This record gives sequence, structure tokens and C-alpha cells, in this order.
Amino acid sequence: MLSVEDRVTLVLRERFEAARVPYPMFGWSHYKSIQRQIDQIHTLNPVVDEFDEFARLEGFELVQGRIYACGGSCAMGETLYVGWKLDPKLRALLCHHERAHGWLRRLRWEDANEADAWRLTTAIILTAPVREQGPLFAASRFPFWFLAAAGLIKAA
Ligand SMILES: [Zn+2]
Repeated sequence: MLSVEDRVTLVLRERFEAARVPYPMFGWSHYKSIQRQIDQIHTLNPVVDEFDEFARLEGFELVQGRIYACGGSCAMGETLYVGWKLDPKLRALLCHHERAHGWLRRLRWEDANEADAWRLTTAIILTAPVREQGPLFAASRFPFWFLAAAGLIKAA
């Protein structure tokens, strides 16, 4: 079984078959359009601001508990479930990943799949202000391997 790190890294490097996920149904411009819609609601920064605040302002319910699906988190309708015993940086990443699922569902992008959800996760975490602040800023909140897979950190 692939770890979250392995699967997400493969998805973000567009090796969808190796990641055992379907090819994404949408393009990067679609994910950016969702980020623009979110920008109309608030300008919270995923590195600086707590996830509870995202959930509150965007109208998602956040439930923390023992979650075994999806590598420790899942989304059902407007409710996002995230395991509480995860590494804090992985937990932060999964919170925004479930938020991405929540947005895809809310906007009725019915064809969206797991690859779309991870690409949207990247778009909603690595916003323009986060990219401008640079990799060390983002690495204070999110896993190094995710930032490397997303191209924010160049692998040595
Ligand atoms: Zn997912």
C-alpha cells in the first residue's frame, strides 16, 4: 500500500498510474478559479492562519477524531474529518486536502477525482502570497516532501 507521501508525490509529478489514481478531469486554471472564489470570502493564509478559521469562514464543519480512511482524513458533504493523532504538518496538509474535496463537492464538480483533489489542495495552499514568502515560510507549516513534490522546493 502506498503511503500518503508516496501517493501525493506521484500525483503531483503526474505519475497517476503509479499513484493508482485516475487522471485528473480538470486543468490548473480550474483550480485557480476556485481559489479566486475563496479569495472573495477571505484572505486567510494557509501558513499563518489556523485551519479552524478556514472551516468557520468557508462554512465547513471540522470533526477531529480517529479517522482511518484516506490516510487519516475524509470529507462527507460539508463535514471534514481529520485525525487528531497525526504529525502536525501532515495534519495541516490533510485539513486543506479535505477542504479541497469539500469545495469540489460544493461547486458540484461531480467528475472530480482524487488527482483533482490533490491538485486543488496544492492550489489552495500554495497561493500567491505563500509562494512569494518562499519555501522556508511554507515549510514551517507543511511537510517538506509536499513542497518538493509541488515544485516549491527544488530537490537536491
Ligand atoms: Zn482525498
